[in-house]
Amino acid sequence: MLLARTAQKVSRLRTSYLEIFNYVRSGRVTPTPGSYVRIASSPRAFHGASCLREQIGGRLELPQILENYKKAVEFPPATYDFETFLSQASPGQDVVLHGYLGVRSDISKKLSFVRLQDPTMNFSIQLVSTSHNDSFEKLRSLRPNSPVTVMGKVQAKKAKNAEMEKRDPWEISLNDVQLLNDFPSDIWMAPDMVHPPKHRHLQLRTSSELRDALRFRAQVRNVCREELEQSRPSFTEIETPLLFKSTPEGAREFLVPTRKHGLAYALPQSPQQYKQILMASGIPRYYQFARCFRDEDLRADRQPEFTQLDLEMSFATGEDVMRVVEGIIRRLWSNLMNTEAPSGPFHRLSYQDAMSRYGSDKPDTRYGMEIYRIEHLLPVDLVNKITPLASPFVEIFKVVGNETDPSATSEFITRFLDSPAGAPFNDNPEGAPGIFVYDAKMPLRGLQPFGFQAAEYVEELLEPDHGDLLVIQAREAAPFAGGSTPIGDLRRALHSAAVETGFKPDSTGFDFHWIVDFPLFSPSTESEPGQGGAAGISSTHHPFTAPKTAADVDMLLTDPTKVAADHYDLVVNGIELGGGSRRIHDAAVQEFVLRDVLQMPPERLTDFSHLLEALRAGCPPHAGLALGFDRLVAVMLGKDSVRDVIAFPKTGKLGEDPMVKAPSMVTQEALETYHLRLIEE
Ligand code: ASP
Repeated sequence: MLLARTAQKVSRLRTSYLEIFNYVRSGRVTPTPGSYVRIASSPRAFHGASCLREQIGGRLELPQILENYKKAVEFPPATYDFETFLSQASPGQDVVLHGYLGVRSDISKKLSFVRLQDPTMNFSIQLVSTSHNDSFEKLRSLRPNSPVTVMGKVQAKKAKNAEMEKRDPWEISLNDVQLLNDFPSDIWMAPDMVHPPKHRHLQLRTSSELRDALRFRAQVRNVCREELEQSRPSFTEIETPLLFKSTPEGAREFLVPTRKHGLAYALPQSPQQYKQILMASGIPRYYQFARCFRDEDLRADRQPEFTQLDLEMSFATGEDVMRVVEGIIRRLWSNLMNTEAPSGPFHRLSYQDAMSRYGSDKPDTRYGMEIYRIEHLLPVDLVNKITPLASPFVEIFKVVGNETDPSATSEFITRFLDSPAGAPFNDNPEGAPGIFVYDAKMPLRGLQPFGFQAAEYVEELLEPDHGDLLVIQAREAAPFAGGSTPIGDLRRALHSAAVETGFKPDSTGFDFHWIVDFPLFSPSTESEPGQGGAAGISSTHHPFTAPKTAADVDMLLTDPTKVAADHYDLVVNGIELGGGSRRIHDAAVQEFVLRDVLQMPPERLTDFSHLLEALRAGCPPHAGLALGFDRLVAVMLGKDSVRDVIAFPKTGKLGEDPMVKAPSMVTQEALETYHLRLIEE
């Protein structure tokens, strides 16, 4: 026990898992042999379990294991949960409590104290154990973190001062303690310890922040549900199948092979088609917390499986959907957040405006730094210096700098451009950015390369102050496509770097926007082949999104790339929370888009025949949206990563779950069952 206590102390001092692991391996601390188990009984019957036991290095024989287990199988119910108990306790009361043991303090040969943490790990109470009682030795044999049932008498706790007495008024004089499972000494666990992903259970157990995030997530779900159930007509929660079929909606899918030769399901990238079929089925309003699966790499904090709050409304337009979603957000913010709920209809920004003013289709508008086109003002010399492109667009934005010391601004930007974060901007094939520190003491205030006239115009446009930074960047003179421009990425990266280095304070509050009027189609790229049509264009959102106006419908025939979509994305603080659209509810028009506009091959077209069939049956106009639920919770909690709000997130490039070791190699037997053969790589 002494050794175990030493180890406990050491573990409290060391917070990094790796450090502790190395420390143990170095042999300076030897975990005490556990009270479990190496077994001499039939290796066949206990193979899996005996491996684990050997790993633990225990000593008990099977009869003893079963005997111990029997003691834990039957345990009395708690007389109270801790919260109720702490508010209702009275001295002399006999109570039964469940919880985890803390680290024991052996005060003397006759007296021990240990705190009992309740099952939620939010509350704890002191247990007092004296040698007069039979439970004394028993308690002394138990290790910290073990789950126990405790029986005892409530007594007032003597505290050093009134304040402490108020905070922690009771203690339990221990009558009996029942061990429900041991916590072996070779598992290292201490507050604030960082565990590797394969020990997610230990991370969850030690991090109250993580557990609180999961609890908060459940509350967010309840509030969303409340809002949707109470709206009129109310939404109906409907589960749609997870075993779906492969359809070229936009993302790469996961396939689920079946035992029938050559047949596979696909996991849904979203319930999009089922929810539209529900609209054709007379369900007026649908919602679901839907599990979605996309086989994408995990950059940009994405998960291959994630949750959406998915909804769809019949006899509705995008306007109706946006109103409902604003209601959800408002209720969430007023019920669960300490900041003011967003009022009024959310701002709207067209895709064009968002891209030209902020260089992003999910701009964080809180910190300004608006972008302007200025190539028409610049001397050719300057343009040629910053880009190899002929007749490019050139854009500019301002970063508020250090007004007392322009050299601090220069130092900030030099550091940024020399750092790995700056590398992609220096290496931009369209030219590196041109950087100017506005300095009242310099000729033309540091804007000499602009020439007198352009410098004056820039000053009028951006009103720079002494010490501010002006950034110019060229790009191909072409319409916007995709989610951002290089200058938009630079704006965002510079803002983050300025905040990280303390050059600028972080923006506060929540600035909700709808981004609207996206192009219905975008050029296909190698990395985003979209629906695999032969037209060289793909649906920007998905192929079911409707053109915005009657004029846009006409343009489907003449110039599909100019068609605006009735598609809306909800953006807050530079993060896309979700997106949706009004759908094409007419089967013939949907077929025309798939066949003639996107030019999908006939065999892929038949993949959508179920949807066309449903639309054909008098499907009403409908519109919907999906909110990324993981991201929504992360934003509400101010977490940088969705992994902090998911119990068992996937990690690594391939999306592994290191705890359960998934994905795992397919056995030969399984390959045969599913009629599959592995090709040697
Ligand atoms: N199914 C869409 C998506 O997953 C959302 C929608 O259009 O409702 O992005």
